[in-house]
Amino acid sequence: MNNTPNPNKNTGGAQRPAQPQVNRNAQAAGRPAGAQRPAGAQRPAGAQRPAGAQQARRPVQPQGTQNKAPNGKKGGKKNKDFILTVLALVLVVALAITILVCCIKAIVDTVSKNNDTTGSIVTTTGTTGTTAATDPIYPTPVPGAWNEGFTTISRNNNAIHEGDLILVNGNYAYQFPENRSHLDTLYGKTGHGSSGGVFDLGIGMTYPDGTEKPIELSKHIISNLTTMLSEMKAACPTLASYADRHLRIVSGYRTLEKQQTLYENETVEGLTAKPGHSEHHTGLTFDIRVKEKDNNNILYLNDTEQAWITENCAKYGFILRYTDDNKDITGILNEDWHFRYVGVAHASYMVEKDLCLEEYIDFLRENHHYGLDEPLNYTVGETEYTIYYFPASVENDTTNIYVPAANYEISGNNVDGFIVTITK
Ligand SMILES: [Zn+2]
Repeated sequence: MNNTPNPNKNTGGAQRPAQPQVNRNAQAAGRPAGAQRPAGAQRPAGAQRPAGAQQARRPVQPQGTQNKAPNGKKGGKKNKDFILTVLALVLVVALAITILVCCIKAIVDTVSKNNDTTGSIVTTTGTTGTTAATDPIYPTPVPGAWNEGFTTISRNNNAIHEGDLILVNGNYAYQFPENRSHLDTLYGKTGHGSSGGVFDLGIGMTYPDGTEKPIELSKHIISNLTTMLSEMKAACPTLASYADRHLRIVSGYRTLEKQQTLYENETVEGLTAKPGHSEHHTGLTFDIRVKEKDNNNILYLNDTEQAWITENCAKYGFILRYTDDNKDITGILNEDWHFRYVGVAHASYMVEKDLCLEEYIDFLRENHHYGLDEPLNYTVGETEYTIYYFPASVENDTTNIYVPAANYEISGNNVDGFIVTITK
């Protein structure tokens, strides 16, 4: 998944060979002395080549050079002194170049590091439990590109645990809010019960304080659910008569205690999430079955019904959360009946690209981080969406999230940051 190179990666200068190395190579390759080099520099006369051979290859030699009398005693000493001087000079130059390269590298590294940490966007090393995050660090984006006119809005970092896109799985527990005011019952809503007849409800929830409630879900997803079920009934002949066969919501919101009971009584390992780690805690999830005529059989959807809801649920913001294809990632076996609300834009994209929620969270972080040039632009029907990931601050308790003036929603990802969804 990580196909985004780190734009700050320093590639300058560090591996350039020092100058003396190049000369040595040229020497080994047999370049004639003096061709591109001061005569006699770096190579003692006759050290690697017989004088005769040198003569043969260079028949014409200027008068008065150091090679004039290779065998003469006086000339030899003079040559030796000259060569030692040149060698010392070369060593000094090589040392100077090495020091210079090191200094430049140190300066570049320091500047690069400062740019990274002074920006407001610093990401954490969160993972979804499936693939390790790559710890990307991007500079603050330049205003005037796709984020023209954006300003910041402050969010407490605890808000990463709230919203339609929170990831709740074996690695990331649900953070229960202080109250249940975000919930509402499905009882009596449009389509519920025999009059209007689309669905009925399974056993509700007994709260720890003893109160009993019919099945509840987060308030803001209920109308999407009831609309979807009405259209499912209209599309599936087997559901035409409520009296013969009707849809039943068998589970919605669950308390920690309820999940504890289910977990302890689990008959098939890998179907029931451990307490605190069930998506049902979020109020964004429901389980659906079918109730048959004149008996108490609660069945799975038939093939036609299953196909319709699987293909159409994204239009209403839902995804089929656990499948055979993603069980190695989610840690939960196939559950044809378990649907999760994430919102229309995200559900549609995930279905189109065949991504489960774990993969989608990673995908946004790695490819549509606010510090990168491109958000995710995606159109569903007539509506255009712009989606991006914004990391929670690791230095402060609050995060200043860049957003446009209006028409946006912010959800936590329950891992390490926020996902902003702009509707155009
Ligand atoms: Zn479920």
